[in-house]
Amino acid sequence: MATANPTVKCTVDQCTHYMPGDQCMAAKISIYNDEISGSSSTSADTQCRAFHHRKTVGDMVGALHNVNVGGVVSSTFLNGTQVTPTVACFVSNCKFWDSGNMCNASEIKVAGQNAARTPDTDCETYQTK
Ligand code: SF4
Ligand code: SF4
Repeated sequence: MATANPTVKCTVDQCTHYMPGDQCMAAKISIYNDEISGSSSTSADTQCRAFHHRKTVGDMVGALHNVNVGGVVSSTFLNGTQVTPTVACFVSNCKFWDSGNMCNASEIKVAGQNAARTPDTDCETYQTK
């Protein structure tokens, strides 16, 4: 059984949840398989479903239901604190996946250069079982 939540490092700066320092300020993210095949054989098939495209500054409002308020507050008080969301993962053929949609990796890297849509994002830490 997984005992810890992975630290999330994310470089998807087109997402409303992205914060400088490769941090994600969402309260919770979900990693899914490729929508069409329903499975993943490479990290490119995985995606972060919490991705929300930052089209305008006002679009931040659209993501406010999923803000890690506690994390943001503690990072303000404790300089250097890593803000990290709770991770639920549905990619069951990843070697880090565990029952209960848990991820056993100590850290995951989410990426997606110039991402405009959810499938443009990837969990780069994915490894086939
Ligand atoms: S793409 Fe996912 S991990 Fe990255 S900032 Fe957005 S919600 Fe967070
Ligand atoms: S490393 Fe694997 S189990 Fe963890 S979030 Fe990424 S795809 Fe899911």
